Amino acid sequence: MAPRHRAWAEVDLDAFRSNLQETAKMAGAAEVWPVLKANAYGHGAKETARICEEEGIARIGVGDSGEALELRGHGIATPLLVLGTVIDSELPDMLSHGIEVGVHSELRARELGALAANSGSTLGVHLKIDTGMARLGVRPEAALRVAQTIAESTALNLRGVMTHFSSASAGKTASGQQALFVSVLGEIRDAGIEIPSVHCASSASIFSEGDFIGDAVRPGISLFGILPPGVAEVAHLRPVLSLRAQVVFLKDLPAGAPVGYGGKWTSHRPTRLATLPIGYNDGVPYRLGAQGRGSALIRGTRCPIVGAVSMDYCTVDVGHVPGTELGDVATLIGRDGVEEIRAEEVANAAGTIPYEVTCSLGARVHRVFRGGEAGSSIRPREPVA
Ligand SMILES: *Cc1c(COP(=O)(O)O)cnc(C)c1O
Repeated sequence: MAPRHRAWAEVDLDAFRSNLQETAKMAGAAEVWPVLKANAYGHGAKETARICEEEGIARIGVGDSGEALELRGHGIATPLLVLGTVIDSELPDMLSHGIEVGVHSELRARELGALAANSGSTLGVHLKIDTGMARLGVRPEAALRVAQTIAESTALNLRGVMTHFSSASAGKTASGQQALFVSVLGEIRDAGIEIPSVHCASSASIFSEGDFIGDAVRPGISLFGILPPGVAEVAHLRPVLSLRAQVVFLKDLPAGAPVGYGGKWTSHRPTRLATLPIGYNDGVPYRLGAQGRGSALIRGTRCPIVGAVSMDYCTVDVGHVPGTELGDVATLIGRDGVEEIRAEEVANAAGTIPYEVTCSLGARVHRVFRGGEAGSSIRPREPVA
């Protein structure tokens, strides 16, 4: 029987739970605060947040107020932190729902303090220090003053001091940033301000030996079974995502037939073409279509994606896969028999990073969740239907 969906993403919640546990082992005594921004990097925020709650996670990081409110709407009660910043119009909701935010300037600290005081509530904040990323955060020389402003406000509650490293992997930049961060922490403490939680490490630092970890870590990508480029695999992480589509059309092609927009690929022998109802709107990078850079697995065999990837469809050469039928499952990310395509491979082929690959899964792609029962990560997995 043909699969139920045109294109779907299987999200293995047992693998997610197991990666969470592996990441926690690497973090030692530090708390693990999973980062589930961008719909958990495309995997599904509410489902992964539920696993986090079952695992007793103390705090979850999100990207903006909308993501925080969505999790609250789904009954997630774990403290939430908007990692980057919020804009003015997001502030009232943060106050009324008790969602913590990062503070990256003196102005924002004063503004938040006044707003919170007016509404008679207190707001948990994390002071964000810019140690070299330059994107957001208080410059180190201004950090103490902002920390004092927060400490003096009766309506603000300093929950943590944080920074974010600009190098995805350990090395000179990260160690320079780490040293700067540690010296700013010292200044704040010397002024008599208590810091409940120091946090700076994303997946790269957690999995790089010798990196400064602090009281809590903020892993994102490792929870999905992917390590940032250049970080050695020192723990067993399991890919969480598989991306699949069914074959909706098969066509025999003569030699010399151009395929797809712009005729960018031409068959050099008589072959068979399978059309998959999944395109760049669904998360298959456009650049995979150039001259067989990308692959799909059909019947456990690698098949090159040929011709330009279009918005809704892509085409693969199945001339070497006997017996291909309509309704066959094509795997664009994931395992089929002994063959596997990892998100890292797709990213390399498309000239991007694995983060972008999983975040690009489109809204039309059905999410099919597997596993997730408490303790189920140690049970053998059911075979994929
Ligand atoms: C996204 C993000 C993280 C998680 O980074 P990974 O590389 O996915 O582990 C941590 N901290 C902040 C501030 C982030 O924006």
